[in-house]
Amino acid sequence: MNIHEYQGKAILKSFGVRVQEGIVADTPEHAVEAAKKLKEDFNSDWVVIKAQIHAGGRGKGGGVKLAKNLEEVKERAEQIIGMQLVTPQTGPEGKKVNKVLVAQDVYYPGETEPKEYYISVLLDRAKGRNIIMYSTEGGMDIEHVAETTPHLIFKEEIDPQLGLRPFQASRIAYNLGLSGAAMKEMTKFVTALYKAYEETDSAMFEINPVLKTSDNKILAVDAKVNLDDNGLFRHKEYAELRDESEEDPMEVEASKSNLNFVKLDGNVGCMVNGAGLAMATMDIIKLAGGEPANFLDVGGTANAQTVKAAFNIILQDPNVKAILINIFGGIVRCDRVAQGVIDAYQELGNIRVPIIVRLQGTNAEEAKKLIDESGLQVFSAILLKEAADLVTKVLAEEA
Ligand code: GDP
Ligand code: MN
Repeated sequence: MNIHEYQGKAILKSFGVRVQEGIVADTPEHAVEAAKKLKEDFNSDWVVIKAQIHAGGRGKGGGVKLAKNLEEVKERAEQIIGMQLVTPQTGPEGKKVNKVLVAQDVYYPGETEPKEYYISVLLDRAKGRNIIMYSTEGGMDIEHVAETTPHLIFKEEIDPQLGLRPFQASRIAYNLGLSGAAMKEMTKFVTALYKAYEETDSAMFEINPVLKTSDNKILAVDAKVNLDDNGLFRHKEYAELRDESEEDPMEVEASKSNLNFVKLDGNVGCMVNGAGLAMATMDIIKLAGGEPANFLDVGGTANAQTVKAAFNIILQDPNVKAILINIFGGIVRCDRVAQGVIDAYQELGNIRVPIIVRLQGTNAEEAKKLIDESGLQVFSAILLKEAADLVTKVLAEEA
């Protein structure tokens, strides 16, 4: 589950990570109030107005703006709240901005120049370990740094039994070229950041930029946080951080019906029980010349109700030219699923694409018979190969 920058910063702060302070606002008037409060609490004359959307690259798209007085705060907030913000990560349609974070300006002049770094904590799946990835080239597009100057990106692997060890935190600070007070601050920063990542059961914490201020403080200017969905049951308090307006509406609806659904860009909708079988089915669709329109695992106990909910969701996608249902009847009996498909088909009444049903396992033959005799535009198959050939055939007919 992705969360907003202001929420990520609140979590970081609760673990003792120093952050660029800010107050969230949903109207220009609230933004002005927030700026006044920041002036009182942190003596921050200038503030930055930052669009809160679940995508990075906001600065480039005009979603991060400096304001030097209260008139400018109002003006910038008026521009940003309600805008459709397009960044390199949103796609061309952009994302609607509902809130801004009014944050203290932390790039003030002083003894030294402010300097931006990159630090993230994430799971390296190949190694099966958490890693801290960091670079002196912060503030900019880290993908670009990885492509052009990969030697400027460092990694620190964390042993799951020992956790982050003090010498590792020091090594990070050293490799970032720091010494003295800044080195100490950075060591503390990294230690607290790792603790936050670990104790929240997160999948990623990306801080870009981490800033060394002109008076040698180290703080998080940005926070991109992904909480691991599988860990959320241990953190009921994070449920309220979810912002459904940032998620794909089809995926929100699917999660309400307990369906494991991910929207994709292809033309063949699929409904499958079990994640492994769902992935294999997507491969088969590709081999048959189609592109999967979604990943959908209806779970181990598919019944008429879940089948109907799944149909409804898949059919909302105008790109879908055919639907492939691939169910293995282990716990669930195939004839029950077949009846569910037939019932849903009749009840929904608006199914405009061919449906290929492949049922294998308990009572597969009875299931095939039910479908073949239903008189609906449903093609049944028992073998995977038959199902794949049917997908190829119906796509060819559609074209
Ligand atoms: P992103 O573009 O979505 O990654 O948003 P960031 O939070 O990383 O902000 C983008 C850029 O805005 C940063 O790299 C900074 O250059 C700039 N920025 C952020 N906070 C401040 C600030 O307090 N003062 C100034 N002058 N610039 C800031
Ligand atoms: Mn950033």
